[in-house]
Amino acid sequence: MAGHKHAFLMWLVIRRKLLTQDKILQWDFSRRKNMNMICCLLCYANIDSHDHLFFDCSYSQRVWNSVRSKGGMPNVSSDWSSIIDWMVHRSRSKSASVYISRLVLAATTYFIWQERNARLFKNQTRPPEALCDVILDTVRYKLMGAKLKNTLRVKELLRAWEIYDTRVFDDGS
Ligand SMILES: [Zn+2]
Repeated sequence: MAGHKHAFLMWLVIRRKLLTQDKILQWDFSRRKNMNMICCLLCYANIDSHDHLFFDCSYSQRVWNSVRSKGGMPNVSSDWSSIIDWMVHRSRSKSASVYISRLVLAATTYFIWQERNARLFKNQTRPPEALCDVILDTVRYKLMGAKLKNTLRVKELLRAWEIYDTRVFDDGS
């Protein structure tokens, strides 16, 4: 369920299809008068655009820098093209660690976009630390529902997520 939502959002981000304010302004001239509309509501220091949100924004960077190690990407910078390069190089991988990386990236983009919308439409704000918690909880929850190979390496990976439940393993039964 939620997995598809996250994957779809990722696809929209990659294709730059999200309706960010910089895009709205391209066709809605009346809004240009209101400069608040184009401001990034996560940092208030830049404009609301794809490149900025993922992950130029200081808020997004804090989130990415806090969750990336758990996703097995401790050295992957917050630069979107570096992240996508890293992913493309591993696009054929079926390893559990890359699977976790994908979950972490998808959840991060999803919740940053959700936070941006919560601020824009509901006037609700959460600090980056709270967003990190939601992202990691979501990934952990998904891992608990995953079917992974029963190997020592996978067990080790799951231990980092405090998952000890053997039902996660696909024994082919
Ligand atoms: Zn920002």
